[in-house]
Amino acid sequence: MMSFASVSGHEDIKLRLQENLSSGRIGHAYIFEGEDATGRDALVEAFAAALLCEKGGKEACGNCRTCVQVAGGNCLDLIYVTEDPEKKKKTGIIGVKEVRVTLVDQASVRPFAARYKVFLMKDAQNMTTEAQNALLKTLEEPPEYVIIILVCDDADHLLPTVRSRAEIVEVGALSEAAIRKALVREGLADPEKAAMCAALAAGDLGAAEALASSENFDRLNHEVCSALRNMEQMSIRRVHDLLFLLKDHKENADLILRIMRVWYRDVLLFKATRDVRSISLADEYRHISRCAAENDYLKLEKAIQDVEKAQTRLNANVNNELTMELLLLSLKENIK
Ligand SMILES: [Zn+2]
Repeated sequence: MMSFASVSGHEDIKLRLQENLSSGRIGHAYIFEGEDATGRDALVEAFAAALLCEKGGKEACGNCRTCVQVAGGNCLDLIYVTEDPEKKKKTGIIGVKEVRVTLVDQASVRPFAARYKVFLMKDAQNMTTEAQNALLKTLEEPPEYVIIILVCDDADHLLPTVRSRAEIVEVGALSEAAIRKALVREGLADPEKAAMCAALAAGDLGAAEALASSENFDRLNHEVCSALRNMEQMSIRRVHDLLFLLKDHKENADLILRIMRVWYRDVLLFKATRDVRSISLADEYRHISRCAAENDYLKLEKAIQDVEKAQTRLNANVNNELTMELLLLSLKENIK
């Protein structure tokens, strides 16, 4: 079962929620919004479990009857509001019927065993306007035992009337240091690889974990770094070797671009600070310091912009190989 102690980082949020729990000042509605989906959902689950635990502490005990039920997915006082599971064609949309039947009607029934009745809705931004208006009635006059938790990427996608009746918990991106620690603690990487994965993941713990456990990681990292070491002299053959890596594994393109971005970011940071600790790709120190010495700021900034442009194109599903080929040729011309 998810506990606050097992969530990496987000110390300020954990403190705030646990203060709510110990003081008993619990809001009737919370909106958890955030980019770090992994951390966000883990916080939500830890919070819901603590709310329901019979011990009533700052953290679910894990042993009481309700905790066991929550862990087993059969606690009657924890209700997931989702798209109608009976619906033949799934659209991801949460409509007014779902909200009425699973939330509004149930909210008038007292909890079975726990102090609270917790309604949890993921992808809350997928509620229709009618569904949100139906929800509003319960938000305006909630029975004292009802707690509604809405989870979404961005609370701005919900109606202002819904937003204004909930406490908003912003789950921001994690720091690289927090991700690094988490990867080492989870046994997914040694400190050096953890630093690399943390830098590549840009605040997303789930992405960092996926990178650290990816089979392709070491090979791609080696290939990409050795190509970047000597961009100017990179042969067309090498360009094609790199493009070949994309052939079978489209997901490699994302990783290749992340590695490139961190490589040039390291160069830029090292050029500005002359501090070895600013380099996350520690093995590349020699090449990165050479690249920093031989290129000016403008060229390095352009290189990073080129990589970011390619990332945008890739996300927009523009042809991978073409995107990558253009990027490599532009870097080859620009960077020594
Ligand atoms: Zn418990």
